[in-house]
Amino acid sequence: MKLPFWTVVLLSWAFAHAQAPEHVRVVSDDAFYDLSSPRQQQRIAANIEQGLGELRRQGRLPSDSTQASVMDLAWPLQPVGRFDQFGYHGTSNFVDHGLPYPHPVQDYACGSRSYNLPNGYNHAGTDYYLWPFPWAMMDAGQVRIVAAAAGVILAKDDGNFDRDCALGAATDPNDVYVMQDDGLVAVYLHMRKDSVTSLPIGARVAAGDYLGLVGSSGSSTGPHLHFELRDAAGAIVDPRNGACNAAPDRWIVFQAYEDPHIDTISTHSAEPEFVECGVDADGNAVAETPHYENEFKPGDALWVFVSYRDQRNGELTQFSIMRPDGSVFAQWDFDLVSQGNPKPFYSGTGADWKFTLPADAPIGVWTITALFQGQTYTRSFSVDWGWLPRRTRLPPRPRPPPH
Ligand SMILES: [Zn+2]
Repeated sequence: MKLPFWTVVLLSWAFAHAQAPEHVRVVSDDAFYDLSSPRQQQRIAANIEQGLGELRRQGRLPSDSTQASVMDLAWPLQPVGRFDQFGYHGTSNFVDHGLPYPHPVQDYACGSRSYNLPNGYNHAGTDYYLWPFPWAMMDAGQVRIVAAAAGVILAKDDGNFDRDCALGAATDPNDVYVMQDDGLVAVYLHMRKDSVTSLPIGARVAAGDYLGLVGSSGSSTGPHLHFELRDAAGAIVDPRNGACNAAPDRWIVFQAYEDPHIDTISTHSAEPEFVECGVDADGNAVAETPHYENEFKPGDALWVFVSYRDQRNGELTQFSIMRPDGSVFAQWDFDLVSQGNPKPFYSGTGADWKFTLPADAPIGVWTITALFQGQTYTRSFSVDWGWLPRRTRLPPRPRPPPH
């Protein structure tokens, strides 16, 4: 199967006052997903069966009388350590409620954000992928997977290869299964090698407890979490309610079908470099090089990169770069429609623009602002000669708004 990962490089003459960006490139990755073969489906079912047997022996299986009918789910991802951006993920695939292949897919909202396969598999979970530099973020251990609801650990696997970027790989995922107190089994797949919780089978977890780090193990096209729910009969439960799924919405914080949002704004000393896969053709690990830089000198090249989740043609972003005195250095608009992409909507996009700071660029803290869908995002960088005392440089960044 050919992966629909693609990169386009385009020249653009964005409308601009003051200095105009010299170059814009848009990258879009709408391709993070995973494969479930009959063998892997059997493996999931066998893991659950074996785990239930173990819990029964331990006498830790929740009884029917203690089970809640519907348990609210907490967001299953958390940034690790100091996190100073606005977001860190995109959502590529929902549960497919359609008839099996070759029928068209049908997600809970009757849209097509899912997939099915000729082997009869309908995507059975929700895929949340790291964005915008998934391999760099995975290597940095930037995002952890946490329990969405309380329960006991039913099964887990670790030690498997975690830089998969192809479908159909024969490797097994690193994963955790949680028998929730409401009787549903939650399956968390594709974790980073050696990151899976050390808690034993039968141990209790609360919502928000660490389970592992996001990785790309077990037939996965990139670092992401596949989150799946099954009931006692083994039937798939989709926690999102919509016109094509009558089951109740189970998320504590409602997740919109389309959630247009800027995930990151960042500055760079060179154009950010993406890799399509975490390994090269010989199987050696490949690192992503974003070229992050916060401190510039007059005369330097400055790359501004922005990443979005759920961006659609026609959604305008108004960008400004302000000098330390508040005057406008550059101003431009960006709309995905200008890029001639084959689709009007992508779950994850990124664009960058190159500027050259003039030789007489004022020293101090410069600010980038982006107005997108009624929300303003700001980011700072500093310009100095490199010998100024530290206190005159960039102040600490404000905390990001809650997810
Ligand atoms: Zn998936």
